[in-house]
Amino acid sequence: MDVDGASQPLYASAQELIQPSALQPLQLGIDPEHHCIVCKGCQCAVQRHALYNHILCSHGSVSRLPSNINTILDEHQVPQHISSPQSKVIPMASIPIIPGFMCTMPDCGAAGQFYTSFSHNHSRLAHPGILAKDCITPSLIQVVFPAKNDYQAWPVDPNYATLSTPVDYAPALDKMKHHDAQGWDDGRVHTPRDPRHVNGFLKEFGWLQITEGKNYKELCSLVEAPSRNNAALLPFKDKLEEYFSRIRPIVDGMAPLILRWINTAEGQV
Ligand SMILES: [Zn+2]
Ligand SMILES: [Zn+2]
Repeated sequence: MDVDGASQPLYASAQELIQPSALQPLQLGIDPEHHCIVCKGCQCAVQRHALYNHILCSHGSVSRLPSNINTILDEHQVPQHISSPQSKVIPMASIPIIPGFMCTMPDCGAAGQFYTSFSHNHSRLAHPGILAKDCITPSLIQVVFPAKNDYQAWPVDPNYATLSTPVDYAPALDKMKHHDAQGWDDGRVHTPRDPRHVNGFLKEFGWLQITEGKNYKELCSLVEAPSRNNAALLPFKDKLEEYFSRIRPIVDGMAPLILRWINTAEGQV
């Protein structure tokens, strides 16, 4: 990579730019993943419709812009306008990856470099009523389009770029992202795969087989103490309390080791 990385240490390593020979004198490349025009000199992407102006304003002369530029861009499927992604993406080559912030609201994916301005400008306008602390989280970002009138910072995941065939792994990573966003709790009881995590009592008395795959909230409601909501059970409450008040001194008197044995996987011996 021929850009100066001294001030910005981290770059995507796996995704190399496509470099059509006609664009090399201008130090322009095309990102193979996002089909963006990337100006290596400026370390940013340039929207297709803004390319002429970018060369003119930032690099002084458009004389080196090839006459068949549109054909070249068409060949590499560069769209007229590129919009921000709605979640983390593979970083673009030749653009620094820097710490920043992103919005975690579903299908939003907005990102910014500075917490104060991002939370002020984004969460207040895009998600009124939701506190910034509930939707903004630190993330690595790339300032892909730095122009004020079309500013785009993208949330990126460098792990995507280190994969040799990102398309094969992307669905699995997307699934993990989805789980991270939604939580791993699917509302059902699952027996731990690792026997060291299995509760000996639940295993020995068959509860694990009975509860496997069941909705645990419904199960909890079955064993909660009777209240006014299930008045028919209230007569049992006194009986149960009486029962527990009788066995409590027995349990209290047991050696801690016995109690541990009853309540752990080792209890199965
Ligand atoms: Zn440039
Ligand atoms: Zn948002």
